[in-house]
Amino acid sequence: MSEFIVAIDGPAGSGKSSVSKQVANEIGFGYLDTGAAYRALAWAVQNLPEFSLDRLEQVDLDKEFDYQISLDPKSYRVSVGHTDVTAAIRDNAIAESVSKVAKLPFVRSFMKRLTQRLVEQHSAPGVVVEGRDITTVVFPDAQIRLLLTASEEVRLKRRSAELSVATAQSLAKQVSERDKSDLKVVDFMTPAPGVELVDSSELNFEETVAAVRKLIGR
Ligand code: C5P
Repeated sequence: MSEFIVAIDGPAGSGKSSVSKQVANEIGFGYLDTGAAYRALAWAVQNLPEFSLDRLEQVDLDKEFDYQISLDPKSYRVSVGHTDVTAAIRDNAIAESVSKVAKLPFVRSFMKRLTQRLVEQHSAPGVVVEGRDITTVVFPDAQIRLLLTASEEVRLKRRSAELSVATAQSLAKQVSERDKSDLKVVDFMTPAPGVELVDSSELNFEETVAAVRKLIGR
């Protein structure tokens, strides 16, 4: 059972996934991307008739949603039942629909139980868990809690660095709309009391990883 929890929250494009994964790798911890479960559920809503949005509340997610994710930072893999959805959950269609699923209170309480169980069952000495409500709702007593942010301009630049201008513009719109709608559900822009703020606007990737490791003390 993992006993040391590093909880990291932040908005889209803050670099929290790549930073959390790298930190976990360097310190020998597991890595859990909690957004993947929301994306996988949005994928199920789109692709499996028994999970259609209008019937979702009647589904016993604890029993019926067969979700697996590896917590090994070196081999990231997500599946639902026998289907590997690692690539599919990164589709635009999922990014556009995930907030609709994530705002449902019964989905959020299921996700909280799921995340706590995945961490509890993991054998590494600790786990870096990243998401939107990890420092406040899922693991408010984590040994380390931090909020990783960057200015909106920097976040959009990082996300669009490898895209054409038109794609970058539509992505920018999509990211800011997703943040806006997610923010109605949980505030991941302001650190809760006791949560450290790491602003990476002026830091490169290595510097951000170093800043996070300094706070963890490992
Ligand atoms: O982190 P990522 O962008 O993959 O998360 C996808 C979506 O899952 C977010 O836009 C948000 O709607 C939801 N999410 C959440 N709470 C978390 C993690 C993700 O609501 N802890």
